[in-house]
Amino acid sequence: MTDCLFCRIVEGEIPATVVADTDDVLAFRDITPKAPTHVLVIPKAHYANAAELAAADPALAGRLIDVAGTIATSEGVAEDGYRLMFNTGRHGGQEVFHVHLHLLGGTPLGPMLAI
Ligand code: 5GP
Ligand code: ZN
Repeated sequence: MTDCLFCRIVEGEIPATVVADTDDVLAFRDITPKAPTHVLVIPKAHYANAAELAAADPALAGRLIDVAGTIATSEGVAEDGYRLMFNTGRHGGQEVFHVHLHLLGGTPLGPMLAI
């Protein structure tokens, strides 16, 4: 039993709408989508943020991006474009401290920052 929400999704203890599932990567729809396509791509192993993941296992960090690109194509957003985002820490707006790559698309996403 872990208190990490996304580890619990990996373990199947909390349901999620899964869109991709490989040996070491899971992708599922965000519960509060901010765009028509909003998918979270995570390593099944726990790392707190993107920098920790990349330092420990750069190939796995690359596979997150690869899976995100494949999902962008299957979701039909690749041609018009999309945004990939790792929020990190308090100022970055990170709420879940299990690294996740946001894939956002399906509409023009507006300016990069709201500030
Ligand atoms: P962060 O702010 O950490 O970058 O993003 C966390 C994301 O996780 C948010 O977009 C939020 O909507 C999503 N989220 C939070 N709890 C759950 C959950 O239980 N299931 C799913 N599928 N997404 C969640
Ligand atoms: Zn975790």
